[in-house]
Amino acid sequence: MKTQDYIALEERYGAHNYHPLDVVLTRGEGVWVYDVEGNRYLDCLSAYSAVSQGHVHPKILAAMQEQAQKLTITSRAFRNDQLPLFYKELCELTGYEMALPMNSGAEAVETALKVARKWAYTVKGVPRHKAEIIVAANNFHGRTITIVSFSTEPLYREDFGPFTPGFVIVPYGEAEAIRKAITPHTAAVMLEPIQGEAGVIVPPEGYLRSVRQICDEHSVLFIADEIQTGLGRTGKLLACDHEEVRPDIVILGKALSGGFYPVSAIVADTSVLGLLRPGEHGSTFGGNPLAAAIGRAALRVLVEENLPENAARLGAYFQEQLRAIPSPYVKEVRGKGLLIGVELKPEAGGARRFCEALQERGILAKETHEHVIRFAPPLVIDKATIDWALPRIREVLLR
Ligand SMILES: *Cc1c(COP(=O)(O)O)cnc(C)c1O
Repeated sequence: MKTQDYIALEERYGAHNYHPLDVVLTRGEGVWVYDVEGNRYLDCLSAYSAVSQGHVHPKILAAMQEQAQKLTITSRAFRNDQLPLFYKELCELTGYEMALPMNSGAEAVETALKVARKWAYTVKGVPRHKAEIIVAANNFHGRTITIVSFSTEPLYREDFGPFTPGFVIVPYGEAEAIRKAITPHTAAVMLEPIQGEAGVIVPPEGYLRSVRQICDEHSVLFIADEIQTGLGRTGKLLACDHEEVRPDIVILGKALSGGFYPVSAIVADTSVLGLLRPGEHGSTFGGNPLAAAIGRAALRVLVEENLPENAARLGAYFQEQLRAIPSPYVKEVRGKGLLIGVELKPEAGGARRFCEALQERGILAKETHEHVIRFAPPLVIDKATIDWALPRIREVLLR
């Protein structure tokens, strides 16, 4: 079968909830992916950061294969010999006392919201079912009905109400707006340290620190959604580390499995996560031994290969080189580490055609929000590969 045959099948039988580039991939290795025609591409999306460790990392693969032969799932009705070690290693790496594993990122976000509400009722003393959670405009936290309830993107919510109440939306990047929105019923503030899906929006320096301080002053939890920014992507283990901010709850996903499996989690201290009692929350697949073994290997690779440091060093180089391209179309190059957005001017006619031109030259990148090209390659990329990509990107941006 050829590319067009696969596309025809997908269009015929699959729900059309995505608009992918017309490339049909069949194999990946490190930063490279290969299509069914044998063409090679540099992956500059990394499945939205899920393959930060690179495609089919041999050590994570080995851990997966070994565990898959032994035991894949017990359900949490019984204990298994991988989950306790995953808990310990995740907590020691992130510096939190407890963790709770789920599968998709959206489920971990839902988990954080439930825990924050429970904290508000049982610790802060908010009247039951009155808790408010403050979020930012242009957020992306996933696709469940509760999560799209507080999205500001019409496409994500238009036809999907009625919505979950209890959320307050403020502009992103303005700490004072959060202070003004806090009431005695406020349980938490939930933010992305950098808004990835909104087009790699980096807030002003000091924003996260101010939010932390405001939350402390008003006895409000600070929840950081680090599903995309976490685990080395921005050049530190967590993006909040850039401002030395320690959130009360950190939400992780994507790279937590190195792309092998859906693995997500929240981490927090006992004063928050210790509030959950048996039966209040759960997931059939969450914390299964296969997921735990994969998560453990994914974290080990992150540390052993110094991926946060690599992201910091090569991200700075990549950004500097992108800024040096004298393109008439580029409005701004921004980002942190290897989470980079190139925003095009309106007259460029949208990012999609640039992504298609990059594809023709062996680079896969995806437009976000029409005018931004995101460059977020696996963190295992090296300088030589960036130097291979730059003239190709340059050619496309100068056309
Ligand atoms: C991808 C993402 C999610 C949702 O994760 P899923 O695994 O797709 O449910 C939530 N928050 C952020 C910041 C993300 O980038």
